[in-house]
Amino acid sequence: MEFFADWHTHSRYSDGRGTIEENTAAAVGKGLEQLAITDHCPANIGVGVKDADTFFQIQNEIEAVNEKFDSIKVMLGAEADIIGADGSIDIPRRVVDRLDILIVGLHPYIWPCSFNDAWSVVGVNQMAQVSRSYRKKARVNNTKALKEAVLKYDVDFISHPNLRMPVDVAELAAVCVTRDTALEINTGHHYDKEALVRAAEKSGVNFVVNSDAHFPETVGNLASGGALLERFNIPVSRILNAREARH
Ligand SMILES: [Zn+2]
Ligand SMILES: [Zn+2]
Repeated sequence: MEFFADWHTHSRYSDGRGTIEENTAAAVGKGLEQLAITDHCPANIGVGVKDADTFFQIQNEIEAVNEKFDSIKVMLGAEADIIGADGSIDIPRRVVDRLDILIVGLHPYIWPCSFNDAWSVVGVNQMAQVSRSYRKKARVNNTKALKEAVLKYDVDFISHPNLRMPVDVAELAAVCVTRDTALEINTGHHYDKEALVRAAEKSGVNFVVNSDAHFPETVGNLASGGALLERFNIPVSRILNAREARH
């Protein structure tokens, strides 16, 4: 199998080190045909874009970069944060509607949308670090919030399920299948990806493998994710950014 796209990379507009053009040049170097710039959204404390309108600026820059490069299509994406137990995310519809790729994920340090959400979305996950019963509660809350987001928005995929914040992957996957939302294998972070695939595969859910690159050098580093899915005999047809290798 071979990958033709990396749909999860960060630029200097959030906490990435590279410019959009540098990420693009790196992706071209790796032979990719598509690249998405998917910066963190405003509620992600210390790393998110300045405000939601920044995505319009990013879009303009992507258009200019697309003019320069013939062999690759650069897409506008966003890695939105869950900020409410009801699945609310931290960018408004007017931004979501402009995106080529909407990623939704859980991150531990975010500005919640209400006092109640401060506890159910953030606090419980902090307590989960030290207490098993809170870990269970966090897992229930996290799973429910992600499922609500999948039902509420056209989410292309969920970033790094089970990274730091526990999720019932089988339950999430069952909803994702009905909404054509994929689950990500994220090669940029260390977490139990085998457990993720094991819990998700029977649902028939699709996967994407992404680098989550924060540096141009790591854009397109997808091989470890491909090898993992091959070990589980996941067919290429279920890996959205891969295809059969051409000989
Ligand atoms: Zn993330
Ligand atoms: Zn990311």
